[in-house]
Amino acid sequence: QERANLAARSPDNLRCPIVVIMGHVDTGKTKLLDKIRKTNVQEGEAGGITQQIGATFFEKKTLEAQTAKLNQTEQFDIKIPGMLVIDTPGHESFSNLRSRGSSLCDVAILVVDLMHGLEQQTIESLNMLRQKKVPFVVALNKVDRCYAWKTCKDTPIRDALKEQEAGTISEFRNRALDAKVQLQEQGVNSNLYWEMGDDDWSNSDFIPLVPTSAITGEGVQDVLMLLCQMAQRKIWKHIMWCANLEATVLEVKAIDGLGMTVDVLVVNGYLREGDKAVFCTLDGPIITEIRGLLTPPPSREMRVKSDYLHHKEVKGALGVKVIGNGLEKVMAGTPVMVVGPNDEEEDIKAEVMSDLTNLQSKLSTD
Ligand code: GDP
Repeated sequence: QERANLAARSPDNLRCPIVVIMGHVDTGKTKLLDKIRKTNVQEGEAGGITQQIGATFFEKKTLEAQTAKLNQTEQFDIKIPGMLVIDTPGHESFSNLRSRGSSLCDVAILVVDLMHGLEQQTIESLNMLRQKKVPFVVALNKVDRCYAWKTCKDTPIRDALKEQEAGTISEFRNRALDAKVQLQEQGVNSNLYWEMGDDDWSNSDFIPLVPTSAITGEGVQDVLMLLCQMAQRKIWKHIMWCANLEATVLEVKAIDGLGMTVDVLVVNGYLREGDKAVFCTLDGPIITEIRGLLTPPPSREMRVKSDYLHHKEVKGALGVKVIGNGLEKVMAGTPVMVVGPNDEEEDIKAEVMSDLTNLQSKLSTD
């Protein structure tokens, strides 16, 4: 079976890329996430967007619908099965982006306030993304604050720019140029994405800039489109689906009626009810049988236990709540593994703890 799984790895069988929104406080990360969730070609024709644990899932058909206008000219064929956008911009589990080689983030949106330019956390996020080699777009957000901006709700940014007066365009151009120069000072080459040349696109260090408004929605389609393109062109090898479990703990939470639960980002492979899962705690590894795998219901937010959907099996990439015994001391940001029929428990325990063990020995030598 293992061999069959490996054979299944192919550019035609991609998993959803995991998207993280990063940036300085107040640049509009939360608003942008809201807008991405709500922007739809036709009001009320939403669908295809589901709330998971810690993340929002966008089906392929939704991405297609949301980028349809842009796609009239771009002719880009979406092959990813969807996109998983992490719900908590700036969450501390993501301050590391990768855990034991597994992704917590495949592509990112770095949000910059067009009115303020680069700020301290922008630079920190920027450096982390570069260090972890995560491709990203820079959203130059709050473009609607340019003087006398005419709102063009939810349209591609170039269409919106065509509607603006010369004075507005000129302010926009100056501010965008400032951001570009500031990025250059950080050693990052960038340009408004539609002004990038073929050489720029093939240069993996070149960053596309997308003006956006998280309030009125201009440029949001462009961001989605670029994320799909980056996923398929730059990191397709990295997001090929495979059956081997790759999963990370996002958060450990007590839930009424359920006790202590662990929110897990399943990046690749399967997690099943009854699996013997191995988690990391400061006291060492623990093994527990998975008693439940839960996601929120398709509609509205859940408050009580009975509102969750129960799954026998989940497939990455997705966010899921795990119920089991003895989860109190599990640590966020650590990997989750499963003891298979041919595995030695002790090997898996050592592997789960290896990150932490390495970290501890590093700390003690520093
Ligand atoms: P976060 O701290 O990065 O998550 O930022 P928020 O999403 O909370 O936004 C910070 C403030 O900026 C809020 O008052 C938002 O309403 C405002 N804001 C965010 N995006 C935009 C935008 O595109 N245009 C305008 N005019 N205001 C925005």
